[in-house]
Parts: sequence; structure tokens; C-alpha cells
Amino acid sequence: LDPTNNRFNPEEMDLERKLRPLSFDDFSGQDHVLDNLKVFVAAANQRNEALDHSLFHGPPGLGKTTLANILANELGVGIKITSGPVLDKPGDLAGLLTNLEERDVLFIDEIHRLSPIVEEYLYSAMEDFKIDIMIESGPNARSVQINLNPFTLVGATTRSGLLTAPMRARFGIQSRLEYYNTELLSTIIQRSAMILKVPISMEAAIEIAGRSRGTPRIANALLRRVRDFAQIKGNGKIDVEIAKYALKALNVDAHGLDEMDNKILKTLIDKFKGGPVGLTTLATAVSENGETIEEVYEPFLIQEGFLMRTPRGREATEKAYRHLGRIRTDYQGG
Ligand code: ADP
Repeated sequence: LDPTNNRFNPEEMDLERKLRPLSFDDFSGQDHVLDNLKVFVAAANQRNEALDHSLFHGPPGLGKTTLANILANELGVGIKITSGPVLDKPGDLAGLLTNLEERDVLFIDEIHRLSPIVEEYLYSAMEDFKIDIMIESGPNARSVQINLNPFTLVGATTRSGLLTAPMRARFGIQSRLEYYNTELLSTIIQRSAMILKVPISMEAAIEIAGRSRGTPRIANALLRRVRDFAQIKGNGKIDVEIAKYALKALNVDAHGLDEMDNKILKTLIDKFKGGPVGLTTLATAVSENGETIEEVYEPFLIQEGFLMRTPRGREATEKAYRHLGRIRTDYQGG
């Protein structure tokens, strides 16, 4: 089971779409971000203008794509969806841009992965709603400038550190999404259970929520798997017993940490005596990119008190030792 990766499984993606909130009212949490967005959307609607370009950053599965869709719904406009790695050539982007209607949303996921040439092409589209396109070929080939309908670019990135400064500067609205607490996640799980038409007890929802790594996508994925157990091994209802049984069978970590989280902590403790160790060294040891560790894994480990970031590097905490059943040999108290 790898709930972070269900994007690549068509059936799971279909279910994910079904569970996706469609309006501000359906969306739980991220209050600060939402309060601001509501104001900006209401103002843009009143002026009948396109909303300012908006950037969402934060770890995967926290609702960036969902919010892009909600923005389009709340603006009452259409949305075109693409992603950084898919846009190979400026021509691909030109096709999308020229098909946008007034005030439409263009959503670019993984916007940090745009090629520099496509990114540059996007600048004038974002700033002046104009692009240059090549017409005809051979000796008659020439570039002409065309006007675009005013639109809103919504960008999403897990790796804000990789976004170029000129790109970032072109987003008038920038929001950082945070991990969700257990209470919010259990609300999301209850809403999803209702959509899936599976009865769930409050206690069971809390049990699943607590193991979801602060992430709605993981919460929903676990709910779907627990539902399978309830259906086959239980009476179809999700109570706390069947939830616990299923989570155990699924090998879900008691704190919802995933494989890489645990690998980072194990490596810190077993290879580096708990640290401190520099990010680059740690990254090499776990064969993961340093920026991914910094932007995707570390924030949750720090928030949950498993890891500390000190001036001398990363350190495993007492809680990490206890979690992995390791004994801290150099512990000096304090
Ligand atoms: P991201 O784009 O940040 O990776 P998504 O927007 O695709 O994340 O969210 C993943 C899934 O989690 C969605 O299908 C949606 O059902 C659910 N989800 C995310 N945020 C919320 C929320 N605040 N309330 C309810 N469901 C949410």
C-alpha cells in the first residue's frame, strides 16, 4: 500500500475525484488560506475580472489541485489542467492558452518542473495576456503577437524552493498549505464515508485520521482500504475494531509515517548516531533528493516531534528513538 502514489492508479484516481470538495464550503481546514481566497474571489467576481495568478505550495495530497478546481467553480469559469513535465514545448502551452475563455483558470501542477523555455514563454502570457506564435514555415515563417483572454494561472508545487524568482514574482496570490490535524482529518473522513455510502463511527474516523500523516489524500486512501476490510471481514460498517484490524493488516505505522519517513529516521539513528548530520549527507544516505527531504518529508517529521533542525544539521529526537524501538546510547538528558 502506498497511498501517496495512488495518482498513478486510474481506479483510485477516479475515486479521488469523487471525493474532491467542489466549493469553499466543502473544503475543511486551511482556514487562513481560505479566508483570504474568499475575499479575492468575491472581489474579482464583483469587478468581473480574472482572479490574480495564484500559487499553492506545500507537501503532496493537502489540497492544491482541489483548491484550483474550487477557485474555478467559485469564479464560475472553466478550468484547463496540465502539469510542468507535460508541457514540453512553447507550442503545447500556446494551444492551451489560446483556448482559454475570459477569466478561465489554467492549472499547472508541478510548476517547478517547467522547462526554462516554456517558463519564459509563460511570462508575457501572465503579465500582458499576450504571446508570440510562429506562423507558416520555411522562408515565410514569422512570429506574430496575439492577445489572450484575461485568465488566471493557478500553479501548484511541492518544491517552492525550486521555483525561479521571476516565476514566483508573477503570482499575486501565494498560499502555503499546512498539514491537517486529526480532528480535521476525521471530519474529512466522515464526509468521504458519506459519499462512499459506508457507515463509520466517530471513533473509527479518529483512528484512521491519526494514522494519515496529516494528509487528506492518505486519509481517503486508508478509508477506502478499511472499507474493503469492513465489507469482507466485517459487517460492512466501519467501527473502531475493524479499523484497527485493517490498519494493522495494511501495515500502517502507528503515527502514519511512511516508508521514507521511517527510512530517514532509521538512517539518522543507525548510521549517524542520531545526528546532527547535514542535509546533503542524509539525502545521499537515503538516496533521495535533498530538496524533497526538506520540503516533503521533514516538515511533517518536525511538526510531529521526530526530527529537529539545528544549526549543525538534522537530529533524531527521543520520540524517534522510541518510535523505532532503538535505545539512545549517548543520551545526556535535558
Ligand atoms: P494536492 O494537489 O495538494 O496533491 P489534492 O488536491 O489532489 O492534493 O487532494 C488529494 C485528495 O484529498 C483530494 O481528492 C480530496 O478529496 C482530498 N482533500 C484534500 N484537501 C481536502 C480538504 N481540505 N477537505 C476535504 N478533502 C480534501
